[in-house]
Amino acid sequence: MIKNQKFKINSTFTNELPADKNRENRPRQVEEACFSFVKPVIPKKPVLLHSSEVLKVELGLDNLSDDQFLALMTGQTQFEGMESYAMCYGGHQFGNWAGQLGDGRAINIAEIEYNNNRNVLQLKGSGPTPYSRGADGFAVLRSSIREYLMSEAMYNLGISTTRALSLSLTGDEVLRDMLYNGNADYEKGAVVCRVAPSFIRFGNFQLLAARGDVDNLKVLTDYTIQQFYPELGEPNRASYLAFFQTVANQSKEMVLNWQRVGFVHGVMNTDNMSILSQTIDYGPYGWLENFDPGWTPNTTDAQHKRYRFGNQPSIVLWNLTQLANALYPLIEDVPALEKVLEGFRDDFQAEHLVMRLSKLGLFTMVEGDDQLMNELEKLLYRSEIDMTLFFRDLNKFDLENRAATLDRLYEQTYMDKVHFQNFVNDWTSWINQYAERLKVEEISDTDRIERMNKINPKYVLRNYMAQLAIDAADNGDYSIIDELFQLLKQPYDEQPENEKWFVKRPEWAKEKIGCSMLSCSS
Ligand code: AMP
Ligand code: MG
Repeated sequence: MIKNQKFKINSTFTNELPADKNRENRPRQVEEACFSFVKPVIPKKPVLLHSSEVLKVELGLDNLSDDQFLALMTGQTQFEGMESYAMCYGGHQFGNWAGQLGDGRAINIAEIEYNNNRNVLQLKGSGPTPYSRGADGFAVLRSSIREYLMSEAMYNLGISTTRALSLSLTGDEVLRDMLYNGNADYEKGAVVCRVAPSFIRFGNFQLLAARGDVDNLKVLTDYTIQQFYPELGEPNRASYLAFFQTVANQSKEMVLNWQRVGFVHGVMNTDNMSILSQTIDYGPYGWLENFDPGWTPNTTDAQHKRYRFGNQPSIVLWNLTQLANALYPLIEDVPALEKVLEGFRDDFQAEHLVMRLSKLGLFTMVEGDDQLMNELEKLLYRSEIDMTLFFRDLNKFDLENRAATLDRLYEQTYMDKVHFQNFVNDWTSWINQYAERLKVEEISDTDRIERMNKINPKYVLRNYMAQLAIDAADNGDYSIIDELFQLLKQPYDEQPENEKWFVKRPEWAKEKIGCSMLSCSS
């Protein structure tokens, strides 16, 4: 047990919400409860691979010794006065109600308050819980590296997300069938310590509602409002509705940001939707490279592509509809709930256009802008242009110099030069229109470029980059993890020494597992 000196222990979740009375750690249905007390499995030979020093300081954990930190981060010990637990939730998976899911491989080890910030520390991959169903409760190194790097990268992009404090090896081996094709193999086990003010998901509300447990649904909703949205006031129908409206607004912000940077979550099940609208559960996510709204990195979703890039906003709305259904027993006002959902649809449409135009450096909309944008997106798609490279470099295009512009586009396409010729005329025409349009934008070039560079990131964690870190780590070399971690701290900044990461996906990565294809197996 570690005695903490710096921060306040504040176990509100376990103090205020109903606990599972059964302490047995075996897979089962857990009713009339929001969580189960459970302890992490003590790992065989834990090693800390990386940690976020900035976050450590923010959380008030910087006074711990290295041994204490490692012991905490890998579940060998806990803070005195705190009991670890797994949360109970359900969810819609790929559009189908799946019943109880819960933290099958995540254990919350502490809820702490420091500098007026409250956070829960959660170990992902530290062993089975009553919610593990048929699985082992562990996580493998490859998916843990991906979650660790992406959480902090997303945070540094300024997008609402759960964070990651540490990445450790457990020293244990984990059996996985990476592509679900009968070829199981042992992989290195790992644990990531995730951090968020709360890990409550849409699915926590849904499960209680599905079971008709309105009493506990109310307890959970009251708790969430009181702890995270106290400005909404005392619990009553009006504040419940205002709560739903707030979640809708914040979820809209989150998905607008995903669309802005080209992030594809990959598994937007309702159990992976944070009630605080933070990006959560980094599994088979990916980044749009050739601009294809129909793309999803998740092979488990290859057939229907439910979670493809272009569908993410509609899925957020679909998920919000499920949350509305769950909250209905407390609000009992269908028109009011529908109004929130309709508002989401309308506001999203308007704000989506504003956001897309801002990527072009167009900040005051004029007639014809939507058409200009639509034409561009069609062209980006058809001529297979890399999204990140295109938008970041757009302000460097010499719009008067047609040959140079086409050369630049050629650097950004995944097509060969011969096929790309088919699009030269369309590109020339679009560039001319854009150059004309820029003339009526009342902003200096310097200001426009500065603003565009804060909207269009220079460095994102492409799957092939994460895969390079994973391949090296499998061979005992953890240096690329740190290199990418440092690179992605300033994703909007020019980093001349890191230009090698500002390139389109290399040819070798096109069909490689982990680079273009990922499954839910982790
Ligand atoms: P995910 O696709 O990661 O959001 O997981 C969906 C559900 O499966 C959640 O309830 C997870 O806790 C559970 N799950 C995923 N992997 C494991 C595992 N290795 N052991 C136990 N539960 C798991
Ligand atoms: Mg999940």
